[in-house]
Amino acid sequence: MDCIFCEIAQGHIPADKVYEDEKVLAFKDIHPITPVHILVIPKEHFSSLNEMTSQDAAIFGELFNTARLLAKEFGVDKSGYRLVLNTGPDAGQTVFHIHLHLLGGRKMPFHFRESPD
Ligand code: 5GP
Ligand code: ZN
Repeated sequence: MDCIFCEIAQGHIPADKVYEDEKVLAFKDIHPITPVHILVIPKEHFSSLNEMTSQDAAIFGELFNTARLLAKEFGVDKSGYRLVLNTGPDAGQTVFHIHLHLLGGRKMPFHFRESPD
């Protein structure tokens, strides 16, 4: 399968890893948009949230818990951070291996009560 994040998870492509266990991997985004910009992925391939079911509930817990721990480790737990999970074209998903963006270290420009345009 031609998936860049599977390649990273398997160690075939280098990444700046900040956390790894049996099921989850976290690494710095190659094009950060905030001072802290980490991607948290399951090692198992799911192309998007649309491919997941309640059977996969445990992995969600792992992804969010890892994001929580990394927010603390990278010092943004108090200042605040945003978790983003882009799904499909309107959200601008570009890598089709599910990933949580952990964004922090500055004020976020977009608030959901405002128009994004
Ligand atoms: P999406 O737009 O799918 O939500 O986010 C994909 C993210 O993956 C982008 O922020 C992009 O910068 C990041 N990315 C794409 N390819 C690589 C890569 O090879 N290495 C790393 N570390 N990040 C990548
Ligand atoms: Zn993959």
